[in-house]
Amino acid sequence: MIRAPRGTFDVLPDDAARRRTLEAHAERILGAAGYGQIETPTFEATELFARGVGEATDIVRKEMYTFDDGGGRSLTLRPEGTAPVCRAYIEHGMHKLPQPVKLWYLSSFFRAEAPQRGRYRQFWQVGAEAIGSAAPETDAELIVLLADLLGAVGAKGVRLRLSSLGTPETRAEYREELKLYLHARESRLSEDVRERIDQNPLRAFDATDPGTRDVMREAPLLLDRLDPQDAAHFAQVRELLDTGGVGYEIDPSLVRGLDYYTRTVFEFESDVLGAQSGVGGGGRYDGLMEELDGPATPACGFAAGVERMLLAAGEPPAPPDHVDLFIALAKPNGAGTGFELSRAARRAGLSAQLELAGRSLKGQLKHADRIGARYVAIVGDDGHVSLKDMESGQQRELDAADVVQAVRKP
Ligand code: AMP
Repeated sequence: MIRAPRGTFDVLPDDAARRRTLEAHAERILGAAGYGQIETPTFEATELFARGVGEATDIVRKEMYTFDDGGGRSLTLRPEGTAPVCRAYIEHGMHKLPQPVKLWYLSSFFRAEAPQRGRYRQFWQVGAEAIGSAAPETDAELIVLLADLLGAVGAKGVRLRLSSLGTPETRAEYREELKLYLHARESRLSEDVRERIDQNPLRAFDATDPGTRDVMREAPLLLDRLDPQDAAHFAQVRELLDTGGVGYEIDPSLVRGLDYYTRTVFEFESDVLGAQSGVGGGGRYDGLMEELDGPATPACGFAAGVERMLLAAGEPPAPPDHVDLFIALAKPNGAGTGFELSRAARRAGLSAQLELAGRSLKGQLKHADRIGARYVAIVGDDGHVSLKDMESGQQRELDAADVVQAVRKP
């Protein structure tokens, strides 16, 4: 038997229904805030992610599905959505539009991670990007929109962690300070952290081994080193959240796995998710557009995992599909009338299903009950129909041409 690749999954109809509901919430919540939907290609030039996400990140170092397109160009299945949206912003000259340009997406992403519950190699994210605004209101609004989405989806046990990474200059100085601190304590660090002190010292905050964690408890914090403008920006974001009644905890060790963040970073976690607790996160990336050869443009965004949101919601069973009419065939030669009846019903805006499995009449009625049909039209061989109201059990004879009208008026 050929199976789906490790870390991937099929979306079966019940699941598809839950996903559609989630997408409808995203469209409603983000659309109401002025976000328009964007879809970028599934693969992009590898360089976009190497530059946009950062060479030193886990994503670029070991998680990308990269291939040669046969013509000597290196392409990569998109591991995240922000760099592609920025690429599209630059490519389509969106800086000429009224700013900020607000975009959202629901797309699949690809990362070669070790699969486990809530962590897949192909997964979906709802993301939103507000490009062209430096205002702290933008950061706060994105956080509130994601909180609203999580609330609408019914995600349980949600907590918000918040921090600021400052500007690249502050961060560079702080990185040097942190490197010195880590080098002075190398023997107590895990091998992985030790090897990357010079490349990416901030990742030491993400480490889970006791030795490194011990060292990090005393480590200098970037939040204590923010320059006055960054500190003011962060204070305003917090104030807006406080006023809006959005609970959060300041977590100075919050490091997102992507290099492009500046100033605000945030992450929503859910207690019910276990090891992979992040449901969605994001932050400000004021330097990314320039990194991609675009005009200097401040921007902020988030991405939330569709599967994680559904897991955090406890995946309630999808409501049964609404079926107005099931067309049962008393005899197989009633198919012509039944076929036409199903088309007429659908044209009239009803949902109608035709018996397709050659079941006995008893079997067909059982099936109609199972799928929750309101009415069953039992088509006889003379073009006459017996219409059964499945709720009351009442049955009456009528002409095939009158069935749609009868079902329309309950
Ligand atoms: P990130 O871009 O890594 O910040 O991811 C944003 C969100 O996408 C996370 O909070 C998760 O909900 C989701 N996510 C990231 N990686 C995966 C994955 N491998 N499988 C499923 N969901 C993921």
